[in-house]
Amino acid sequence: MPSKPIDLRSDTVTLPTPAMRTAMARAEVGDDVYGEDPTINRLEEFAAQRVGKAAAMFVPSGTMGNLCALLAHCQRGDEVIVGDASHIYNYEAGGASVVGGVAFHVLPNQPDGTIALDHLRAAVRWLDDPHCAETRLICLENTHNSCGGVALSPEYLASVAAFARERGLLVHLDGARMFNAAIALSVDVTELTRHVDSVMFCLSKGLAAPVGSVVCGDEAFIRRARRARKVLGGSMRQAGVIAAAGIVALETMVDRLEEDHANARMLAEGLAGFPQIVIEPERVQTNIVIFTLRDGISAEEFVVRLRERGVLMGDMGGGRVRAVTHYGIDAGDITETLAVAEEVLRAGSGVRDQGFPLH
Ligand SMILES: *Cc1c(COP(=O)(O)O)cnc(C)c1O
Repeated sequence: MPSKPIDLRSDTVTLPTPAMRTAMARAEVGDDVYGEDPTINRLEEFAAQRVGKAAAMFVPSGTMGNLCALLAHCQRGDEVIVGDASHIYNYEAGGASVVGGVAFHVLPNQPDGTIALDHLRAAVRWLDDPHCAETRLICLENTHNSCGGVALSPEYLASVAAFARERGLLVHLDGARMFNAAIALSVDVTELTRHVDSVMFCLSKGLAAPVGSVVCGDEAFIRRARRARKVLGGSMRQAGVIAAAGIVALETMVDRLEEDHANARMLAEGLAGFPQIVIEPERVQTNIVIFTLRDGISAEEFVVRLRERGVLMGDMGGGRVRAVTHYGIDAGDITETLAVAEEVLRAGSGVRDQGFPLH
């Protein structure tokens, strides 16, 4: 059993780096609702420049960032196209509908995280038909979380953008793990953002900042998004203490994502060696590993047994298990994880060990 739990549930469990702690302690702050927090202003300028947009807005969470973007783009009664496996549709409590009166038009996500262009073409409403909600926005996700952290290519994003322009639609990118996509594809992140009208990315996942996400777009969009953030209660005061960690995250934590990707591949290849585990390791592109089980042991039980032995993975439901690598997990942890997995699988179904002390 590992001496401390190996937590592969999510990259959201990452703890701030020592450099972040120092930057937080020393951050110059002011009232950000008056636009007077110099650290927030610096993060927003830096983020906008980094993703090649005119303006940016710091928000407490990715969920709020996506919601602000949808509220800034849409009126009540508009509809947005989302993938059926997307985070916006499945894991954000239907916020755009609840708060914004926005309808979701759900299209299937392909296994590679894309929405097929043919499906988009067939889905967009005729704008002058009073029967129909007006299609306003297409939402894409990169990397695509539930599709196994796959990266959407610049070419695909360009093709959706061209279609959107032709039909007078906007495109929003849920780029919670967009830097993982850029690293996996070996492209500058602007190759992924230049095709979209707005983008949200998380500082609090693989980049290891304790709190926060950023929404980027043009000036007029960000002005509307700031109004939406105010409605949602997300305008903060001396939040430079957390934005300071976000700056360090962008400066120091992007390139090292490659390590997480290598560890995820190592985990996937190791798991593929067990006959009870169904996985295609060659499909693992970034830091997310998703697999199913066969031969008697259920996903639920596998996750419980691992946990008893100090390894934490996520039961996604539907028989799927998710493991996410991140800052704080090294190759040694992967070796240990594989040893624990082997033990659990060898023990087979039914027997319970003593619980691992977790709280
Ligand atoms: C985590 C995540 C979000 C939301 O971020 P929170 O900070 O957890 O609210 C949005 N989209 C995707 C794809 C995510 O993985």
